[in-house]
Amino acid sequence: MDNHSYDVVVVGSGPGGYVCAIRAAQLGLSVACVEKDPTFGGTCLNVGCIPSKALLESSELYHRAGKEFGKHGIVVTPELDLGTMLARKDKIVGQLTRGVAGLFTKNGIATHRGLGRFRSRNEIEVVDPEGGVNAVLQAGAVVIATGSVVSTLAGLELDGERIIGSTEALSLPEVPGHMVVIGAGVIGLELGSVWRRLGSRVTVLEYMDRVFPGADADVSKQAQRSFRRLGIKFELGARVQSAERTEAGVTVTYAARDKTKTLDADVCLVAVGRRPNTAGLAAEAVGVELDERGRVVVDERFRTTAPGIYAIGDVIRGPMLAHKAEDEGVAVAELLAGKPGHVNYDAIPSVIYTDPEVASVGKTEAELKEAGVAYQVGRFPFMANGRAKALEATDGFVKILADSRTDRILGVHIVGPMAGELIGEVTLAMEFGASAEDIARTCHAHPSLTEVVREAALDVGGRVIHI
Ligand code: FAD
Ligand code: NAD
Repeated sequence: MDNHSYDVVVVGSGPGGYVCAIRAAQLGLSVACVEKDPTFGGTCLNVGCIPSKALLESSELYHRAGKEFGKHGIVVTPELDLGTMLARKDKIVGQLTRGVAGLFTKNGIATHRGLGRFRSRNEIEVVDPEGGVNAVLQAGAVVIATGSVVSTLAGLELDGERIIGSTEALSLPEVPGHMVVIGAGVIGLELGSVWRRLGSRVTVLEYMDRVFPGADADVSKQAQRSFRRLGIKFELGARVQSAERTEAGVTVTYAARDKTKTLDADVCLVAVGRRPNTAGLAAEAVGVELDERGRVVVDERFRTTAPGIYAIGDVIRGPMLAHKAEDEGVAVAELLAGKPGHVNYDAIPSVIYTDPEVASVGKTEAELKEAGVAYQVGRFPFMANGRAKALEATDGFVKILADSRTDRILGVHIVGPMAGELIGEVTLAMEFGASAEDIARTCHAHPSLTEVVREAALDVGGRVIHI
């Protein structure tokens, strides 16, 4: 058995873990990363952000070729080659996961394959699939970056074929005739959009009364209109009770408006959230406390309740986003190296890569109302923007919420083309403590979608130009 000693042992190689390991190595610490899966990169690179975005891009092109190219005077009848589409996605995943392995080598980070398990507060055992311990790593500090896994509803088990989670939905061998999606959140609508665009009938069952329940209410409304236009059907206020496999597929039973209803489908995608993953880690045995939702409890410096043990990413509180995990990874590495690591949770953007895209940063109107903060709203539609018209993508708007007293930007909500790129400008502005006036006075290229951001900022002061 190998015995090794490191300043930092990171358990998990997702965007939290691998970025933490790299930053710690850059700062001169000796670092090891333990990963149980065959490839590095965690959920994000293997079965999350990257493969889903690859399929969103391909399916959008297919959909546009069939339904929208005609508007540009391009007449084509596209044919779907699903095998090639899935292979392209797998190729991108392979390139990026191998890229992480290369970054580990470049930065002199030791890697250990196997399940990481606490032997004591400063010792991690590396366990092979048969349960054998093949290494014990002595650690000056341990960073738990074990991420999250798909969750399901009580009594509803995923079988991986007919009743599936997001991982299987990224690799379906054929386009289902009818897909029922449970949950109108991010995964439900990103992956629901993929299969709808490729020809599946898609019905989304959502417990709450709107799609993206956590988003700004105007954004939810606009997004839902666009999804309806794509042909996705919604049943809101629907509480799913069961999904049973049948000979031909699956039957989903749910309660809506005091009635029990059923839907037959070929596939049921369960997209009701993810839960923190500490399985097999034996963290509680060394004094790491978990909260009522199974998340590792940390303080503002990412310290768990056990001395010398830290945690970051999906396994702790906060949004389950790759860039949030990365920033926490950098912060904890800097803290371990004696530097002032820090994450600004008020300026973490969130993007949903549907068509139109949905992006936001900062507070929603509901949150500001609840906190009793007086604010001004500036809003501008893509419909009145030249670049959006040229792109044939005019659905949506930019909405800026600014403090009534100081004009400081408190939140920005975008639904529309390239929202995921546009949110970068306003996130930077918020990081610098900018006012709406700062954006309004900044020259923006014409014609560009960024002009919509500027017009929304002008609208905060009641002096919008192009409407
Ligand atoms: P993870 O990426 O989950 O990595 C944890 C790693 O730890 C895994 O490799 C796991 O195998 C390993 N591990 C766990 N336990 C052990 C152990 N005991 N020993 C050794 N290794 C262990 N976020 C975005 O920001 N943008 C997106 O577009 C986006 N799209 C997504 C699409 C889908 C379909 C899904 C499912 C998620 C998506 N996310 C997206 C969320 C994003 O993937 C996560 O927020 C992110 O991966 C969290 O990073 P992490 O490092 O905390 O954990
Ligand atoms: P989610 O929390 O976004 O959505 C889950 C939805 O399921 C909610 O709308 C909820 O009301 C609904 N729901 C819960 N129980 C239900 C029931 N019994 N019947 C009907 N509906 C029910 O979760 P998700 O879509 O599974 O995504 C998980 C996480 O992954 C998210 O936190 C997200 O941050 C992350 N993610 C991010 C991206 C991105 O950034 N683009 C993409 C995919 C996933």
